[in-house]
Amino acid sequence: MIARVIVDVPSGQTDRLFDYKIPNKWYDVLEKGMRVVVPFGPRSIQGFVVEITESSTVEKLKDIKEILDVTPVLTEELLELGNWLTDQTLSYKISAYQVMLPAALKTKVEKQVLCLQESQLLPTSLQPFFKKQPLVKWSEIVDTDPGLLPSIKDAVKSGLLEVQYSVKDKGKKQTHRMIESLLSKEQLKELVEGLPQRAEKQIAVVHYFIENDGQVPLIRLIKMTQSSRQSVKSLIDKGVLIEKEEEFYRDPFINESFAKTKPLPLTDQQQQVTTPILSSIEEMAHKTFLLHGVTGSGKTEVYLQVIERVLSEGKEAIVLVPEISLTPQMVERFKGRFGSQVAVLHSGLSLGEKYDEWRKIHRKEVRVAVGARSAIFAPFENLGIIIIDEEHEGSYKQEEMPKYHARDVAIFRGSYYRCPVVLGSATPSLETYARAKVGRYELLTLGERVNQGPLPTVEVVDMREELRSGNRSMFSSALFEKMKDRIDKKEQMVLLLNRRGFSTFVMCRDCGFVATCEHCDISFTYHKTNHSLRCHYCGHEERMITTCPSCSSEHVRFFGTGTQRVEEELGKVLPEARVIRMDVDTTRRKGSHQKLLKDFGEGKADILLGTQMIAKGLDFPNITLVGVLTADTMLHLPDFRSSERTFQLLTQVSGRAGRHKLPGEVIVQTYTPEHYSIEFSKEHDFVNFFQREMFIRKGSGYPPYYHIALINVSHQELPKVIHVTEKITQFLRQQLTSEANILGPVASPIARLKNRYRYQCMIKYKNEPMLGKILREIQQHYSRETARGDLQISIDMNPQMFM
Ligand code: ADP
Ligand code: ZN
Ligand code: ZN
Repeated sequence: MIARVIVDVPSGQTDRLFDYKIPNKWYDVLEKGMRVVVPFGPRSIQGFVVEITESSTVEKLKDIKEILDVTPVLTEELLELGNWLTDQTLSYKISAYQVMLPAALKTKVEKQVLCLQESQLLPTSLQPFFKKQPLVKWSEIVDTDPGLLPSIKDAVKSGLLEVQYSVKDKGKKQTHRMIESLLSKEQLKELVEGLPQRAEKQIAVVHYFIENDGQVPLIRLIKMTQSSRQSVKSLIDKGVLIEKEEEFYRDPFINESFAKTKPLPLTDQQQQVTTPILSSIEEMAHKTFLLHGVTGSGKTEVYLQVIERVLSEGKEAIVLVPEISLTPQMVERFKGRFGSQVAVLHSGLSLGEKYDEWRKIHRKEVRVAVGARSAIFAPFENLGIIIIDEEHEGSYKQEEMPKYHARDVAIFRGSYYRCPVVLGSATPSLETYARAKVGRYELLTLGERVNQGPLPTVEVVDMREELRSGNRSMFSSALFEKMKDRIDKKEQMVLLLNRRGFSTFVMCRDCGFVATCEHCDISFTYHKTNHSLRCHYCGHEERMITTCPSCSSEHVRFFGTGTQRVEEELGKVLPEARVIRMDVDTTRRKGSHQKLLKDFGEGKADILLGTQMIAKGLDFPNITLVGVLTADTMLHLPDFRSSERTFQLLTQVSGRAGRHKLPGEVIVQTYTPEHYSIEFSKEHDFVNFFQREMFIRKGSGYPPYYHIALINVSHQELPKVIHVTEKITQFLRQQLTSEANILGPVASPIARLKNRYRYQCMIKYKNEPMLGKILREIQQHYSRETARGDLQISIDMNPQMFM
């Protein structure tokens, strides 16, 4: 028997199947989708088995050296998805498979085998290993006799053994004390009657087990019942409860207790959008829905109720949420409704934590996966729905190989499992809304907020006028008055500093010299805390300069408005205001993002000041004012989506105000009040924005009217970059139809990064069936040079960033 393997060497030359012989002893063990170790040249490397066949065209085959899994880590469907992903994104197969798995599986993990029952029940060959202890190192068994692998596999299948992978997180416990009741609920009720009243803590603990099923971590039990170790221990001594050591899932939310929530009666609007989704679930008819609902229209409740139906049919659900919206508030809404059936996947987790969450899904211990982009690969095998909240978010596109968009993966998986995909947003992407309008997606609309509350009023302030009337401050008089007013009323506010493409740069006032990174063509950002200059692209750091390197003048100043400067300014003009600042600097440490939001939610500050990351998902009742300090900084980026992004951001941040009883107000400060993205966001008018923007896209040949592919070439030597990009452009002009519009070669907006020059070529096209094949040829043509690493050619079939 032959195994066909994709090896873990991401390069154009190794991006194909390699055949290996399966040793006889492993015939029955090896399956498609498992990881193996194979000899490759002088080395041994990992690979994925993607096919098992009986013959090979290669004559002298080497043997597979080691099998790393006893159950496949990639299901049949994920293997298929990997092929599709490779074609769609022109990536290497190995990258497509690896992106679907937690990173921990890439590293060498220690495996252990746990005997779940009496060791006498095991096949005799395995019994000796488990006589003394239930947990044995994998290597101990397999090194003794690799021929034991089939018996291990059978024992795993029949539930006698379990293979555990331990990913070590420094300083983290691996086991947990779990508490479970030994009595039935009836018996517990009787017991409570008999307990003396002063044993109130014990009573609380018993009540917990009357109301909840299953086991619970000790620390969580104590917290939820406000009891103590002592009271739990006395119940254990009485034989009411039992304590177990349980393998510890490093659940980051384990210490939070989530109050159970019940489905709310839906409003008429919500009912109307829910019905078609439910029929799609019931009829097993794959459909993509766009749920276009204004902020606060109750989209999340709709998600929860359709998921409930999916679970009741015995199926599974994936919910994608943008990374920065994955707050405890968000998680709480899902865990509150579905409890321990929910796994949460996001980038703030450690390697081990991510792996734990993935494994819960793989073992079918949970049925709902909530997470950021990569959760779209959750290894469920009976999917009933996929939901993508805030579908317009740029972070759903991965910028590294494979450059996939989670939306496309969702639709692939949805059609595989014949289940609905729901894309939700208050400001859908142009592409998605256009598809909904022509009927490729089904459009569902929630036009009003649940509480019938009005959307906040938006006032646009022209900052040029402010300057003319002598106000040089970063706060317009209108905003300043309202800020004071809110402080008096003890209401809260959000100040957004739109900082993308804009920061505190350092310039000489005499000669105009701007300090830039010596490795990249990027201006340095000034960091006040340690008085340094930092390049945000390569991380290079230098001391702040005091004299101009160009003219020796001492008039070197930093310009631009960073959040730190706004905070300082607030300290001067509104000293009584308590401010929480949220930006990349204050949220670098793990968990700090959540802590800051929690503090704000508890009223520990009047003002939440921050960058883009505060625009989304926050739902605090006491926010009645939102101020946008600089609405137009994004408008001038060299990116055809800059108007769309501005509209989205302004609409999202406005949605933070007045979500509950108190009405909300928004002040938008701008130097270009007449820009349509600002005018339409003022009226919360998505549909007219859409029409206007579509008109512009049509005129200039951009998506959704045209597709775009972007080729980026980089090298340390400029002539080489220009030469290669020119060659590629010429080749494309020969090969593609005359309909295709090929732009370039031109220098990329960031013309040099980490000492590499960057050039690009853009293809705008409507229908080029050969494009994928042609681009593959280009990759192959340069594969020797790119494998060496000096030349890089990156192809993006659906670019979201143009830097
Ligand atoms: P969206 O996700 O569209 O921004 P949310 O789902 O956050 O809106 O809903 C806004 C608020 O309305 C939340 O506080 C939510 O609990 C509440 N809500 C949603 N649906 C209902 C309903 N049917 N009845 C009462 N309150 C609801
Ligand atoms: Zn100077
Ligand atoms: Zn740099």
